[in-house]
Amino acid sequence: MQYYSLNHNAPNVTFQEAVEQGLASDKGLYFPGSITRLPDSFFENIEKMSHEEIAFEAIKQFVGDEIPEAILKQIIAETLCFDFPVVEIESGVFSLELFHGPTMAFKDVGARFMSRCLGYFNSDKNNSYNTVLVATSGDTGGAVASGFLGVPSVDVVILYPSGKVSDIQERQLTTLGQNITALEVDGFFDDCQDMVKKAFLDESLQHKNLTSANSINIARWLPQMFYFFFTYKALKKYNKPLVFSCPSGNFGNICAGIVAKKMGVPIQHFIAATNINDTVPRFLKEGKYNPQSSKATLSNAMDVGNPSNFIRIQELYQNDLAEFKKDFSSFSFTDEETLVAMKNIFEKSGYVAEPHGAVGYLGLKQELQNHPEAIGIFLETAHPIKFLDTVEPALKIKLPIPMQIEPILNKEKWSVSVRNYEDLKNYLIQN
Ligand SMILES: *Cc1c(COP(=O)(O)O)cnc(C)c1O
Repeated sequence: MQYYSLNHNAPNVTFQEAVEQGLASDKGLYFPGSITRLPDSFFENIEKMSHEEIAFEAIKQFVGDEIPEAILKQIIAETLCFDFPVVEIESGVFSLELFHGPTMAFKDVGARFMSRCLGYFNSDKNNSYNTVLVATSGDTGGAVASGFLGVPSVDVVILYPSGKVSDIQERQLTTLGQNITALEVDGFFDDCQDMVKKAFLDESLQHKNLTSANSINIARWLPQMFYFFFTYKALKKYNKPLVFSCPSGNFGNICAGIVAKKMGVPIQHFIAATNINDTVPRFLKEGKYNPQSSKATLSNAMDVGNPSNFIRIQELYQNDLAEFKKDFSSFSFTDEETLVAMKNIFEKSGYVAEPHGAVGYLGLKQELQNHPEAIGIFLETAHPIKFLDTVEPALKIKLPIPMQIEPILNKEKWSVSVRNYEDLKNYLIQN
């Protein structure tokens, strides 16, 4: 499979090159040269297939012959080492729980897949290695640290804003050791992100083979399509149209869902539910894409002012706004509305949603009014324990500590302090 840059000013590359580079040399996102619909027989027989078999059929056209079949199957098996329950919380409304992985957020799927692809590509090269450089506002760092732990010939450097991630999130990035280093930045998430961007452009760091593990990287983004297939498998028996609501930040999840639809998963409609960082809802209303700097909210993994994957969504609809609007709605919600939704869900059904899932629920309920025949699914993107400072007081409950979290609670934190870009550069050159 060939990948092209959405800035159309860089050479086409292979899957391997796209994974190793992250971003094209013209700073464009890579996009697959073709997306081929799976045969009807695949969807007719999907109930009889395991998650691993479904994922293999879905991803193989994007990998081509660059990873041997047996190894790709092994990578998929290691990626999907946990379950993806689809839980009915009220009549016709389902929560797709994406938080049963090692770091309890959906980012485990993409991080595990990408790490193993890079590990494979490095295995046949002598003394070659990559440095994965990533900025995190919370969940990406933990998933990338866990996913890449012990992967040969890959060093991982994670920048996080000091004092601005939750205690559990900080432990997930700072306690692993081995090939994982956490750099604690005296600043905000935007400062971390700016430093990472600067490093990618820095000629003097070329020899470090830097790549990203955000959803701009195709190996982090594409496997996120898997759980749209799994949900279809789980809900097919109802024989009703499916409407998905994705709580959206960089729009990687929802964009992967649209790819799944292109490949034949019968999805009637998508909702991108956002917090007050509402660049896309405003675009749909006003027809103008006008990004703004991000504002802090309770659903902080979605505090994104300029969603990086939106350009991929526009490519999927070939910039045809009218076609796009038939399939896609987007709504924004305040923190107050989010807290009310969390309480309502809990009172009505006893279900504990965290702020991101609650935003997804709100978007779903709004759009379902236009789809009375449909079943609605919202993505529950993280486990409530990761946002316990919000969830416990809002619902007046005490959450039990899940077994994934318990072992890190008494491990030693280890991080390197970084004040500015010079510090980061010196660290990368010396290590
Ligand atoms: C990353 C993240 C999101 C946003 O996902 P995108 O694919 O960037 O839109 C939503 N919820 C949680 C909990 C996240 O960690």
